[in-house]
Amino acid sequence: MRSPLYLDYNATTPIDPTVRQAMLPFLENFFGNPSSSYQLGRQAANAINIAREQVASLLRARSSELVFTSNATESINTAFCSALAAHPEKKQIITSSVEHSATKLLCLELEKRGYEIIWLPVNSLGQLSLEHLEKAITPATALVSLIWGNNETGTLFPMEKIATITAAHHVPLHVDAVQVVGKIPIDLSSLEIQYLSLSGHKIYAPKGVGALYIHRHASYQPLLCGFQEQGRRGGTENVASVVALGKAAELASQFLGKEMLREAALRDRLESALLKKLDHLSVNGDLDHRLPNTSHLAFRGIAASTALLLLDEQGVCCSAGSACTSESCDPSSVLIAMGRSAEEALSGVRFSVGRFTTEEEIDHAVEIVVQVIKKVRSLTFTLQEVEKKN
Ligand code: PLP
Repeated sequence: MRSPLYLDYNATTPIDPTVRQAMLPFLENFFGNPSSSYQLGRQAANAINIAREQVASLLRARSSELVFTSNATESINTAFCSALAAHPEKKQIITSSVEHSATKLLCLELEKRGYEIIWLPVNSLGQLSLEHLEKAITPATALVSLIWGNNETGTLFPMEKIATITAAHHVPLHVDAVQVVGKIPIDLSSLEIQYLSLSGHKIYAPKGVGALYIHRHASYQPLLCGFQEQGRRGGTENVASVVALGKAAELASQFLGKEMLREAALRDRLESALLKKLDHLSVNGDLDHRLPNTSHLAFRGIAASTALLLLDEQGVCCSAGSACTSESCDPSSVLIAMGRSAEEALSGVRFSVGRFTTEEEIDHAVEIVVQVIKKVRSLTFTLQEVEKKN
């Protein structure tokens, strides 16, 4: 099988070989349970502590402020559980209309359980209004939860300003930082954020490991009761994956500055080549405040689902925000929230580059994408002609 031309780093990342090397001993010789008091157990516990320091260092947090989880979805659920348990009388949650399904589905569930959810609108760039946010906060607000970097469009919310507003109103803030960790600098020592969720498989560690940052003064309520993680998360730790997450965080700290610029240059190379070679193409998202690796393109007149099938046949992996089943495709709720029509939303394709993307891959991908889009457009046009004649 030929190796894929992988341009879907926002969906997941491959494991970095250095990360793999770091985790392997914990799948082999160092298999002890970190709760065991003998040496084999203590080695595992020690490795977890080192990983905690590494993740803390990437975020400029204290290691005592981090709990390892099974993924970001668990981290998000734990943050909500903590904030809501601290003030059971407060029944309002503020979030945005462009959240990842991990937050969106949780909010919909809480709505069924009697919470009022305020879904802040966004403008055509996917940006929210700070004024709307401030006006929405009331004495009943238990939590504000917002995505920092949008997984589809890459739009970055102004988290520093958001944190200043929530802090001024003494409302806890949870940040879904899954897409920004390792892509932009984060300094939690200077931000008034109470909870922050991240995921291993977006930063070159394996799937099935994540972390939750809890500010030392924020309330905490475990989702899984047990004595592990200093009583903050029950269940024997996934030692090898936690070690991997630590190593991945260390590498992210090392690469961050240079890699941001390199990936932005690759993303821009892809975008400008496609804009030059194809008509009726526009870029979705806030181009001045965007993840450096993400390009969300609207290829007018095509169904992205058809293009993705043809791109996949040619070995190109990228994605559409729409949720497709064999019968139908629902347009991306993010693009609909940005004011796009269903047809426009269904024409969107997301490309996201990463640590192992090369210029050659971008140039090759451009050739294939141009070919595929022209083909889909000609098929669509022929179909429309046939329909008109009938
Ligand atoms: N939040 C965002 C922005 C994401 O992109 C994802 C994963 O795609 C998640 C949350 C959920 O992460 P996990 O797969 O670790 O549960």
